[in-house]
Amino acid sequence: MKSVRPETLAAQALHAIDPATGAIAPPIVLSTTFARDESYQPLGGMVYARDESPAPKAAEGVLAALEGGAAALIFSSGMAAATTAIRALLRPGDHVVAPRACYFGVRTWLSAFCARWGVALDLVDMADTDAVRGAVRAGQTKLVWAETPANPTWELTDLAAVADIAHAAGARLGVDSTVGTPVHTRPLALGADLVMHSATKYLAGHSDVLAGALVTAKADEWWTEIARLRHDEGAVLGPVEAFLLLRGMRTLFVRVERQSRTAHALAVRLAALPGVTVRYPGLPSHPQHALAQRQMTGGFGGMLSIHTGGGAERALAVANRTRVWVRATSLGGVESLIEHRVTAEGAATVAPPDLLRLSVGLEHVDDLFEDLRAALESP
Ligand SMILES: *Cc1c(COP(=O)(O)O)cnc(C)c1O
Repeated sequence: MKSVRPETLAAQALHAIDPATGAIAPPIVLSTTFARDESYQPLGGMVYARDESPAPKAAEGVLAALEGGAAALIFSSGMAAATTAIRALLRPGDHVVAPRACYFGVRTWLSAFCARWGVALDLVDMADTDAVRGAVRAGQTKLVWAETPANPTWELTDLAAVADIAHAAGARLGVDSTVGTPVHTRPLALGADLVMHSATKYLAGHSDVLAGALVTAKADEWWTEIARLRHDEGAVLGPVEAFLLLRGMRTLFVRVERQSRTAHALAVRLAALPGVTVRYPGLPSHPQHALAQRQMTGGFGGMLSIHTGGGAERALAVANRTRVWVRATSLGGVESLIEHRVTAEGAATVAPPDLLRLSVGLEHVDDLFEDLRAALESP
């Protein structure tokens, strides 16, 4: 098909029509194994579901196109995707640069992995491009890992600048773009080598699928090793989950555009309340607002955080008073979630104690605002 815009290919799931039935929603193929013909060639090209099966393959095609990558692989979770990518690249003696502030699960896993396997790790402030430049070691740094906007304070990484720094040192740049989504951030176009998503979040979008994804700029040696690990270890997505992911991606743009618009409006209105500080890349008060305007397209995302003041106790009291916002972890679903990150992360947290993380869903902006304002203003 002629090249169309991302909104079009997402909505049509690459115009996938089942050749056997004409179905415009793909059939769910549960078969784990696929027959061969008389000359022992696979009838439909597929052999076994740990290699590939129709629904995950279809989701991979859509995501590769959305990110502008050479290929994509879908995994059983975001963590399976991230850990596979990182393990595929690093060997004992290598060095990796990663963000101090990022998704908690990635940071704790990476720290333990590097300690066990003799990989040197520098956790740096990725918002500070000079800090990244100072941390890379030419020839020894194999990976720079970034997350933008980054949990739970929504700092940005200047991807074009960090890609140049990584490549000059002989390293690769991998980007956790879960929060950026293909709607707002295009890491591969900015020079990244690999994009990772927790597809559990915005891509699937309905808090009912656990999934992960990797998209590569080039089908290179790193990618071959990633594919080998997924095949050998089996962290694949089942067909029903892959179907739900594929369905979710069809509405990615309308969901994320609305979520971003609501998040932006909430950020402005919450920032006007006395004693409340808001962290959101779309606000001029965000220290990297200029970078956000340059690097993000069509909005600033559906995630923001507020500081309630008064420490963890007050933050928890505010969260406990909300009626519209649901107290739960995760993000990117159609329902808005509020979370006290210090409670969620425990002792190893770097989150400020009075911070509440907000994942904005598809509810009416006034309901979300009034609920939070009442919770904040209640004595
Ligand atoms: C949720 C999340 C992950 C982990 O993904 P799972 O699907 O929960 O394994 C990684 N990075 C970010 C930014 C996330 O939000």
